[in-house]
Amino acid sequence: MLLSNYSIEFVRLACGSKAQSLDMIALLEQDIGEVIPYLNAVLGGFQYTKEPRSVSLKLEGKLVVIYPEKICVSAPGDRLEAEKIIEWLREKINDTWERRGEIQPCFESAPKPKVLDILRLLPRTNCGECGHPTCMVFAAQVAAGDSDYNDCPALAVEQKIELSSYLGHFQLK
Ligand code: SF4
Repeated sequence: MLLSNYSIEFVRLACGSKAQSLDMIALLEQDIGEVIPYLNAVLGGFQYTKEPRSVSLKLEGKLVVIYPEKICVSAPGDRLEAEKIIEWLREKINDTWERRGEIQPCFESAPKPKVLDILRLLPRTNCGECGHPTCMVFAAQVAAGDSDYNDCPALAVEQKIELSSYLGHFQLK
């Protein structure tokens, strides 16, 4: 077993002048740096960095960043939800480590969806009903994984299917 123990801390980060987001950090008692490229391959992380070694991914709508000595989860909701995510990751980490002989490690970030490709599949009326001033802004949000394409109420069924298919290649559904 590579990872056996960790402790959890919550950190309240100021975002702008008023709003705050409660993020969680799991401090790991074991160094899991070596498993990170294998996790990148298994979990399909969307961003891999070599220095410091880390992989970022989205789990249940939360941004999760895995480092050798800690795991950060953005706005996990409550402690129970945070612990569920970390416990699931602990099992994945240990399972991936045990199976590393059969896994090709990945040292690259996943390809990213292109803003213009997403824009092409939107209604392009700039109606603002999604809460963004233009379809281009909304497309950029979707490409970054910060908005769901379903937040555009003007999408036709065919456009939803095409967007789902396109974003499915990048694990942003
Ligand atoms: S609701 Fe849809 S069509 Fe309207 S601005 Fe937003 S993305 Fe564009």
